[in-house]
Amino acid sequence: MATVLVFIDNPGDQLAKANQELLTLAAAAGEPAVALNGPLHDSVEATMAEYGVHHIYRPAVEELDDYLVAPKAAYLAAAAGQAQPAAVLLDNTFEGKEIAGRLGIKLGSGVVTDVTAVSGSGSGLTATKSVLAGGYTVESTVSTGIPVLTVKPNTVAPSPAGAATEPEKTVIEVDAASQPAARITGVEERPASGRPALADAGIIVSGGRGTNGDFGPIEALADELGAAVGASRAATDAGWIEHSAQVGQTGQTVSPQLYVSAGISGAIQQKAGMQTAKVIVAVNKDEDSPVFEIADFGVVGDLFEVLPQATEEIRKRRS
Ligand SMILES: Cc1cc2nc3c(=O)[nH]c(=O)nc-3n(C[C@H](O)[C@H](O)[C@H](O)COP(=O)(O)OP(=O)(O)OC[C@H]3O[C@@H](n4cnc5c(N)ncnc54)[C@H](O)[C@@H]3O)c2cc1C
Repeated sequence: MATVLVFIDNPGDQLAKANQELLTLAAAAGEPAVALNGPLHDSVEATMAEYGVHHIYRPAVEELDDYLVAPKAAYLAAAAGQAQPAAVLLDNTFEGKEIAGRLGIKLGSGVVTDVTAVSGSGSGLTATKSVLAGGYTVESTVSTGIPVLTVKPNTVAPSPAGAATEPEKTVIEVDAASQPAARITGVEERPASGRPALADAGIIVSGGRGTNGDFGPIEALADELGAAVGASRAATDAGWIEHSAQVGQTGQTVSPQLYVSAGISGAIQQKAGMQTAKVIVAVNKDEDSPVFEIADFGVVGDLFEVLPQATEEIRKRRS
């Protein structure tokens, strides 16, 4: 069976859901193998085995994290040289997409980013994505080289393979310092919000200009749902919430199971980042707001009245 190589970067001691999803897709398309960067904890190796990973590649050096992406792309290209995969899957973070682009050049391969569904097997994978600010959904196959796909979170439900494997391990030589790369001189951790990361959250509650700067009701509903908090550009530009929360063409593209849009008009640049959400709930005072064109459920009303009621009702039903 053809190998499908998944790049997993610094998983820590628990394999993130987004990575489990990539392994699920790899197992559906072939035999999953992993090119890992960072320490391999026993717990992570056990999870990889549950997902049917038959081979784990690791870099011979630990310095890949000292640089921006170039050495990681060089390592992944070397791992692909060993694994001879039919396809390579990466996460859809900014870094994942940049590594994919560089890998595509190194392998002479076609790259598809922002993938929301994968079908087929081996090198004949079909990738689905939405294009032109979300106006169209296209299916594409890579016709040159090994397909390199970056896949959005929540594309598939994580599903371990039938029987656990015993992954073989191979160390890959890579000369990190010889790559034309920028060295990282300092890293500052952001204080944890306690909420899930926007990029791979299953539920997102987003607020826009309609909040008038008060994200209290957005955050209260998000916390009741265990959701991430997102925002329109109007809200981030106003400084009401940090830029990393921006969803849209020039922010993050997200594909959660549920996206609650409150006080957001639904401009095409906002839609571009969220319209592949499985279920969209919109709350807006204006019944003609464009967000209702893509909403599965719409509430015409004031978010300051609607969201607290929804939060309270969810709280009641849970207790
Ligand atoms: C190149 C470019 C890139 C861009 N990238 C992005 C991007 O990545 N993401 C993004 O979001 N935008 C982006 N924009 C901006 C985009 O065009 C819109 O200006 C922006 O999305 C509007 O934000 P908004 O919906 O919050 O505000 P508005 O368009 O002002 O809408 C506010 C909405 O809130 C409703 N409202 C008001 N009060 C209430 C209330 N109390 N209760 C309920 N509803 C209420 C109003 O009816 C209205 O529909 C980009 C623009 C350009 C030109």
